[in-house]
Amino acid sequence: MFNAVFIDKHDGEQQVAIKSLDESELPDGDVTVRVQCSTLNYKDALAITGKGPVVKHFPMVPGIDLSGVVEDSSAPDFKPGDTVLLNGWGVGEKHWGGLSEKARLDSRWLIPQPSAFTPHQSMAIGTAGYTAMLAVMALENHGVTPDQGEILVTGANGGVGSYAITLLARLGFHVVASTGRLEESDYLRELGAQDVIDRHELSEPGRPLARERWVGAIDSVGSHTLANVLASTKYDGTVACCGLAQGMDLPSSVAPFILRGVTLAGIDSVMKPYAYRVEAWRRLGELLDPEQLTTITQSITLDQVIGASEDLLAGKIRGRVVVDMA
Ligand code: NDP
Repeated sequence: MFNAVFIDKHDGEQQVAIKSLDESELPDGDVTVRVQCSTLNYKDALAITGKGPVVKHFPMVPGIDLSGVVEDSSAPDFKPGDTVLLNGWGVGEKHWGGLSEKARLDSRWLIPQPSAFTPHQSMAIGTAGYTAMLAVMALENHGVTPDQGEILVTGANGGVGSYAITLLARLGFHVVASTGRLEESDYLRELGAQDVIDRHELSEPGRPLARERWVGAIDSVGSHTLANVLASTKYDGTVACCGLAQGMDLPSSVAPFILRGVTLAGIDSVMKPYAYRVEAWRRLGELLDPEQLTTITQSITLDQVIGASEDLLAGKIRGRVVVDMA
């Protein structure tokens, strides 16, 4: 038997609890993993609270990230005792996920645990840090360099935002952090932000074009914020779009694209091909100081996940939450 966060739906009503399950109830897969750590992402909180249509069928064990040890494998690439990492691939949405002491998975979704990090550290990074790395790589691919000027990170206190600041600062960028929690400015500066602005400067409806300010941006907020970021991006700049914390809409115009040559680069971590994932984790190993991860992270137990999901969506959690199965 093992414990998991278990989401079910009866008569249109979603129920969630910590449930003791038998291994025979696990879904199909060629690798069984003893989960050591998972995380609580924005998407997991939406799934657990039922506030977003994340879960594609019921019952579901949420958790889009996990790290653990292979217990059983019929896949040639993995043997018992191997340590592995998983981010995305629809796990925790379509296939039972990582907020569980055990998971049975498709081996094609697993990558070997990166040697730069412990399982706990790799979950402190999780999909948030891996997505931030993909966003940084997209900016680099579009020729954005530190000497060109200021770069903006929105949703700064969130998981993606915290890692975006850390990575960009490490690469030598002048990072401006946009937040609704100015009281956390010291934390953002500790991560590497040089300036902190109030998110209300960006969150209201704005003009199609504004004064050129950012050479690039990593946006996890969407809606009017993303529209205003595009409007104030410099000629030839690039904005990496990865989230919707303010909203899924984009009330913008073509002006930034056709008059300033701005690029909007979409970031999807869920279905990103294997080679990009391995490269993103290699870069994370190169750029992140494992010690610094403790500044960004708090640990909770599986029992605390349901309560923490409400807090996360209420914007009460700073940085990242690791769920430690031990
Ligand atoms: P968090 O909840 O950790 O952070 C979101 C942050 O957004 C908050 O901390 C807050 O930052 C800011 N925010 C919240 N509500 C609003 C609002 N109404 N208006 C403006 N800003 C707001 O989430 P994550 O960092 O894990 O994820 C951020 C977004 O990115 C989510 O939408 C998530 O679904 C998406 N995402 C997408 C991925 C992809 O593959 N594309 C992968 C991972 C995440 P502050 O308090 O500093 O203002």
